Amino acid sequence: MIPKTLHDRGVISRYRSFLPVSEATPVVSLNEGSTPLIHSPWLSGVAGDGAEVYLKYEGLNPTGSFKDRGMTMAISKAAERGAKAVICASTGNTSAAAAAYAARAGMRCAVILPAGKIAAGKLLQAFIYGADVVAIRGNFDDALDLVREFSAREEFEIVNSINPFRIQGQKTASFEIIEELGEAPDLHILPVGNAGNITAYWLGYREFFEAGKSSRLPKMVGIQAAGSAPVYLDRVVEEPETIASAIRIGNPASWDGARAALRDSGGAVDVVTDEEIVQAQILLASRDGIFVEPASAASVAGFLKCHGKARCAKCPFPAGKANAKIVLTVTGHGLKDPGTPAAKEMRITEADATLEAVLSVLKLA
Ligand SMILES: *Cc1c(COP(=O)(O)O)cnc(C)c1O
Repeated sequence: MIPKTLHDRGVISRYRSFLPVSEATPVVSLNEGSTPLIHSPWLSGVAGDGAEVYLKYEGLNPTGSFKDRGMTMAISKAAERGAKAVICASTGNTSAAAAAYAARAGMRCAVILPAGKIAAGKLLQAFIYGADVVAIRGNFDDALDLVREFSAREEFEIVNSINPFRIQGQKTASFEIIEELGEAPDLHILPVGNAGNITAYWLGYREFFEAGKSSRLPKMVGIQAAGSAPVYLDRVVEEPETIASAIRIGNPASWDGARAALRDSGGAVDVVTDEEIVQAQILLASRDGIFVEPASAASVAGFLKCHGKARCAKCPFPAGKANAKIVLTVTGHGLKDPGTPAAKEMRITEADATLEAVLSVLKLA
């Protein structure tokens, strides 16, 4: 007997009728989703014109990123068809989520990572949840090519974003935003790596619009790192480089989905530099009290770029539109990546253990 509590409310039980599940699907959940939509006084002030800016804080999912929304679906469907093991290529967060949900389902989990390119917290997660971790000499795109070769093996379920159930689970974030705001926002900004998430959000917004739960669709804005911007450049990037490891992807699996979301919503894709990402990460933490990993800070950096001096010409921000509602997805928790360049700015002053000495360091003497 599964205990039902108020909090027993993962995305499958919350949005069952919008998801490809049936009574026969064993739901593998860690109560993911229902993440807070946090108002940002700082960013609302930056936008001006009465705009309200909200942060969808996906770092508060069970393994610290939005990947849990898709993984509850992928692993539940894998369990339904009797898979014994799951495999994924990962820039870190997919492996953390896959390992946790596989553990919960009693399945083996194999993760293929690009050697030396994974944030420490994410690697620790894969290990502690009991996954078998293989580091290949290659980048994420090589790892994904390799995983695709497992599709011929029945006992394995591939849980990368090429797994269609991942997108289905991830679209629930749009549902939550509409339910919370009572309407879809005017603009939705999010980081783009493999492009599964922008595809999923757009799907979710359209489904709720068609179901009559919102009366409009947002413009979708994707932000990529300048050194890893295949969607922006409209070509494969052979050697993607950025400190934002979760979006260090040169050949996105859901490229077509991103194109459709950008085109059909009247949105845009832009790039931000690593310096802008780190600055945005530090500002978001120190002004709004929200600590996110570098890839997530790309949303904020993109927003600041669009509203700063270098306002991009093609930015679809509803200029002149009063009281716009803008949502930024911040995709993962800051504690996952203690090696972020922001850590280099840490200044710790030593002092004697006396009130005087500490007051003097605090410049309060
Ligand atoms: C996976 C991930 C992204 C990129 O999402 P895509 O669906 O690959 O575009 C961004 N930020 C974080 C923290 C992620 O884990």
